[in-house]
Amino acid sequence: MALIDAGRLLSDLRELAAIGRFGTGVDRIAFSAADIAARRWLVGKLRAAGLDAGMDQVGNVLGRYPGVSTAILVGSHTDTVPKGGWLDGALGVIYALEIARSAIEAGGQSAVGIDVVSFQDEEGTYLPFLGSRSFCGDLGDAEIAACRAPDGRPLSAAMADIAVEPPPLRLDTARQRCYLEAHIEQGPRLEAARRRIAAVTGIVGIRRFRIRARGQADHAGTTPMAMRKDAGVVLFALAAWVADEFPRCGGPDTVWNIGNIALRPGAANVVPGEGEMIVEFRDPNADLLDRLESLFLARVAAAASGPVAVTSEPLLRIEPTAMAPELQGAIAAASAAAGEPAMLVPSGAGHDAMVLGRYIPAAMMFIPSIGGRSHDVSENTSDADIVFGCEVLAQAVAQLR
Ligand SMILES: [Zn+2]
Repeated sequence: MALIDAGRLLSDLRELAAIGRFGTGVDRIAFSAADIAARRWLVGKLRAAGLDAGMDQVGNVLGRYPGVSTAILVGSHTDTVPKGGWLDGALGVIYALEIARSAIEAGGQSAVGIDVVSFQDEEGTYLPFLGSRSFCGDLGDAEIAACRAPDGRPLSAAMADIAVEPPPLRLDTARQRCYLEAHIEQGPRLEAARRRIAAVTGIVGIRRFRIRARGQADHAGTTPMAMRKDAGVVLFALAAWVADEFPRCGGPDTVWNIGNIALRPGAANVVPGEGEMIVEFRDPNADLLDRLESLFLARVAAAASGPVAVTSEPLLRIEPTAMAPELQGAIAAASAAAGEPAMLVPSGAGHDAMVLGRYIPAAMMFIPSIGGRSHDVSENTSDADIVFGCEVLAQAVAQLR
């Protein structure tokens, strides 16, 4: 017997995509009218399916499976980046809805239910993982009071607009014994390997630094090369060192990026007197991140021994999160049973599972993204892959119950 209704899954996904539609994608940033409308829509769907559902003051939506005292928590997020895609987050939430709804319809005697969650602001318009952090009790009143969106709107005002009274929805570790999140891959690996399912081994850690160089602005025509204090040259040499050394010292999953570099005063005929760049690197292995960090900072220190002052400032440090092996195994077994061996990959992007994984066993499953595209209206996955992914996740959930 089929564990899910494929037609209903696809039509719910498309119904949700119509809320905040933007071209072929959606624009549903956290706490926008479209975001809250989507969350209220979800509450309605969950109640219609027989779950005890509600939304809290941060916008988290939880549907509790009826008549059970323990449950597998399944979900993702329904907020998007500005002008984002229709599947990032929404896929995992509608999978959870469909799996819970089909299980309720099928009846059966399992004492373990399926609770459905949509976390708020996974994309970080106000705060990255705001919803999952709130759900896990990891978001303090002071942090809420201090938080504003980039447009200046206070988080407290956004929360007041939802007009939902406390108490907030919270993780119940006595009830919700593990967390499963399905997501589009948002990268090209599955498609390139012609595979349909990935069991995520872990979520990468991130180290991010701002590097500042302070030299001296001089006439670019009259100052001899040997007498310059060129902040730009120092930064470029450091960037070239990263590009040469990280492939040698990193692992197969290490990625790095220099996404921002600025020189001042920024004129063709002036030696750059000041500059800064932001360097980040990611890997699923904490020891490897430590090693790359110490090599990098040693290189920064060496660069600072010249005529230009060079300093580093840590901007972000997120430790890698391992996914629970028994849950990874359930996803891999369900995929293999459906005739598709699962690819094992780390997630290079952060997800709510990273937050949940600190409190209960957590795991993630990826399905292919066409062309690897995401965070853009071109984001898409074939209907066949969407349906197959839900069948595999439903099978994994059935095994875990
Ligand atoms: Zn997402």
